Parts: sequence; structure tokens; C-alpha cells
Amino acid sequence: MKFDVVIGLEVHVQIRTNTKMFCGCSNRYGAEPNTLVCPVCMGYPGVLPVPNKEGIRNTLLAGLMCECKIALYSKFDRKSYFYPDMPKNYQISQYDLPFCEDGKLVISGKGLSQELIATKTIGITRIHLEEDVAKSTHFKQYSGIDFNRAGVPLMEVVSEPDMTTPDEAYAYLTALKQIMQYADISDCDMEKGQMRCDVNISVKPSGSPTLNAKTEVKNLNSFKAIHKSLHYEIERQSDVLESKGHLVQQTRGWNDDIGETYIMRTKEDAADYRYFPEPDLMPIEISSDYLEELKKEVPETPGQRCARFIQEFSIPEYDASVLTSDKACADYFEQCIRFGSNPKKTSNWIMVELLRELSQSNKTFDKCPISPKDFAELILLITDNTINGKIAKTVFNDMFSSRKSASVIIDEKGLKQVTDTKEILEFVKRAIENNPIPVQQLKEGKASALNFLVGQVMKFSKGKANPQLASEMIKKESS
Ligand SMILES: [Zn+2]
Repeated sequence: MKFDVVIGLEVHVQIRTNTKMFCGCSNRYGAEPNTLVCPVCMGYPGVLPVPNKEGIRNTLLAGLMCECKIALYSKFDRKSYFYPDMPKNYQISQYDLPFCEDGKLVISGKGLSQELIATKTIGITRIHLEEDVAKSTHFKQYSGIDFNRAGVPLMEVVSEPDMTTPDEAYAYLTALKQIMQYADISDCDMEKGQMRCDVNISVKPSGSPTLNAKTEVKNLNSFKAIHKSLHYEIERQSDVLESKGHLVQQTRGWNDDIGETYIMRTKEDAADYRYFPEPDLMPIEISSDYLEELKKEVPETPGQRCARFIQEFSIPEYDASVLTSDKACADYFEQCIRFGSNPKKTSNWIMVELLRELSQSNKTFDKCPISPKDFAELILLITDNTINGKIAKTVFNDMFSSRKSASVIIDEKGLKQVTDTKEILEFVKRAIENNPIPVQQLKEGKASALNFLVGQVMKFSKGKANPQLASEMIKKESS
């Protein structure tokens, strides 16, 4: 039997603000547990919430980046539930009047399996704003609760069930993360819980118009886990249908160690949360003037920047898409160009050498030991033949570990390229004298012989000869 897969994602993104959503506590990750708290976020009786303008602004900005309709009249609601991570026994969220609705996100590129995905538009149902809940940690004998996270502004981005493969879900998450980073809304670091995702997935016989009951998978803490859990669920649900079983709506968890989902509970309906308008907060009215101002602040999207890079710097589409997939990388590249380095050469060196070194040393661009100015200088020294490509790699590695500039390293180690023809000629003569057979082969037109002889010259010159000059002179001297 063949099956169709229907996938929708609910993604929570913590918004980067100075303070929490409804109180003045600092919104900061990594502090001692329960040190960033106050009566409001601890849910003491009689306290009143005050909305954080910055949290609302960033939610609207995310909506504009995803081409959503922005509600000029919106409100907060209480979502009631009883759990230790929520001291008020309700969470302030949004129910029927979210800030943003009906948007879209274009996905393309590669999924986790490295297979190219056809460009596709995924609908965004809504983006609403709520407060995060406390973080519970379960130890052997007891559980601990850290209220530092309680009240942190959190937006929920709900997609339409438009995805049909785990790779598409992966590409969607990548695109969403890029947008949040480009608009400076969040770093979306999943390890820090800044981005969290629940997936909804259902499987039906190919072509069938009726949807089967869906499964919601929770506790997914990496893009990889999301991808794997979707694969697992497709298998599991297809097996149920194959064996004439019946799929029921349920919430499942993900066990990353064994790579399986497990049943948590059958799904609550929205009514279980007893939503009602938050009586302590006025509805939020957004003036069209404010919205117009905000529209001017919407930054370039990754796609727009990619297109601009191709146009402005005449680099291939592949280069542009790699560079712009990470905002910090795109910024770095543009800064290098501003210091005068050649765009295509810069792009090659970033994509091949710098990205590799950063990933091997587990660093991000903000911790990059080579400044864009120094990186541009290296490229300029290659372009003007002060050093050749091979020496440049040594210099680059040295720059990365010592943080010294290229010119300092070249001076200190005497790595300047030899372009003095007299000096090179001596190496060329030696190479010819020592290697009669390759010389003979070269005369017979064998290209590999030339490479060998150039290699000899490079060896004699300790890698410093200009290989182009060497090649020309070998041809001349051996004929
Ligand atoms: Zn507080």
C-alpha cells in the first residue's frame, strides 16, 4: 500500500528581550536557578502583569517577515492548567485573536538527508505571543523547578499541515530559524531551549481525501531528533494501516536513545484548557502608524540577501546560499568585501577553510579568531601574488590559532612568494637536470610531467616560488 504523509509543526521561539513578558525580571539564560524571579512571575496573589512592548514588537516583526496579516486589535487569554511549572495555574497566551495570521514561508535547499528539496511555500496559520513556563528538571529522588524561565516572552509559530516529508520539515525549521536570526528576534539555540518544536503527523492511504487521526510528538530537542521521529512515525502509522489497524489521536514522546516514540496520553481538546480573556490586561490595539513604522524596520530576508549577493558580488548561487544561510556568516563576508577583498576568492576561502576550522573548533562567527579585516588582507595578499595558495593555507591556519595578521606571519616566517625570475630559474634548472625522464615526457606533451616538475621547483623553493612563473619557465627551459 502507498501512503501520503501530512506534517504540521508548532514551534516555540523565546524572544530576546531585556526583561520578561509581564514583569521587570531579567530575561537571561544561565543564571543560578530561581534568582531571576519576582511576585509577578512567581504568581503571587494580587499582582498585576504589565505587557512588554519589545516582546510584542518582535512578534509583529516575525509576522511581517513571514508575510502574515497583522491584527490591529488583539488580546491575551488565560490558558488554564494545573502543573508545577505554572505557579498561577494558568498561562497568559492568545486564543482567538493572535497577533499574526495567514502567512507563509518559502523552503528550498537541502534537508537532513542532503537531498535537494523543490522550492515550496509552507503556510503559516498563526503566530501568537505567550509567556514561557518554568523549567522542571527531574532528578533520581526528586524534581526541581527553575522559575527563571517562567514569564520569558515566547512566540508560537503554527504551520499549516503543508509538509509531506521529514526533509521538508527540516528545511522549514531551518528557514524559520534563519528568519528569527535575521530579524534579531532570537538565537534559536535548541540546547538552551530557545527554540522548541512539537510535530503533528498523520498518514493516510495515497490519494484518500480523509485525514486519519494525527499524532503529536513532543520532547524533541534537535532538528535531527525531529527528522528521525517523523521517519519513525511514518513507519509506525503505515504499519498500523497495513495491518488494518485503527489510528487514534494521541500525544507521544520521543526517546532519542532508542530512536522511538512512545505514547504519553490521548490528546486533550482545546476546551480542556478553559481559555478565557485575561481580565488583568487590556486588549492590545496597534495603530496603523506604528505598523507602518515597523514595516520599515523589517530586515532583508535570507532569500532577498542571497539574491542580492548573486547580483552585487557576481558570485554563484550556491556560494550565495551557503553564505546567507547563517546571518553572521553573511555579515562576515560583506565586511571582508568592504575591506577590498575579491568576492569570489573570499567566498571560496570562507566556505572551504573558515567554515571548516570554525566547525572543527566548535566556534561560531562571533568567536571567530580572524577579524574580517585580517581575513580580507589575507585574500588581498593572495590576489596580488605576495603569497601563493599553498602558503596561504599555512598562513591561514597560523592566523586562526595565533590571531596574528597575515602580513605579520609572512614577515616573521619569511613566506613571501619568490617572483624573482633569477631565483626561480636556478630552481628550474635544478629540476630539469635532476629529472631527465619527466623532461623527455614533457617534450612528448605529457601534462602530468609538467606538474611533477613544477612540484620539484616548489619543493626546492620551500613552497615559495610562484607556481605560474615556474611552469612557464620549465616549458621554456626544457624545449
Ligand atoms: Zn518576574
